[in-house]
Amino acid sequence: MSNRTFTMIKPDATSKGHSGAILDQIIKGGFSIKAMKWTRLTKEQAGEFYEVHKERPFYGELVDFMSSGPIVAAILEKDNAVADFRKLIGATNPAQAEEGTIRKRFAASVGENAVHGSDSDENAAIEGDFFFSKLERF
Ligand code: GDP
Repeated sequence: MSNRTFTMIKPDATSKGHSGAILDQIIKGGFSIKAMKWTRLTKEQAGEFYEVHKERPFYGELVDFMSSGPIVAAILEKDNAVADFRKLIGATNPAQAEEGTIRKRFAASVGENAVHGSDSDENAAIEGDFFFSKLERF
């Protein structure tokens, strides 16, 4: 069990001004920030990040959306980080997310769902490495 996960606040949430409220909920949820940046993915970078979904029908839409505006990328630390963070953000489709979860509060649709959370320790490490060098994490 690793104590780190990776998150992005997606372009729908940054453009609606929800970044501060989402970070507040993450910190109050017991996660501490080990690395963080405000950035924007090119289409190519978004395509690479979501390469595992290449064969899914929504891949093109996902790449367009994730490169459509700025994001907040962060590495978070907490015991049981991956599973606990998935619980905090809620189901992929906000209509099915539990009350009080980040996606229930801030997401509009299954595609534009406010936040990303790693689904395994292995992917958390890969995704963190995608955005941050050793000098950028503490
Ligand atoms: P997650 O692990 O909860 O983020 O969900 P998945 O790994 O299944 O999907 C990755 C991301 O693809 C989701 O967070 C959504 O942004 C997007 N996505 C998933 N399903 C759909 C869909 O049916 N349509 C669109 N447009 N995007 C989707």
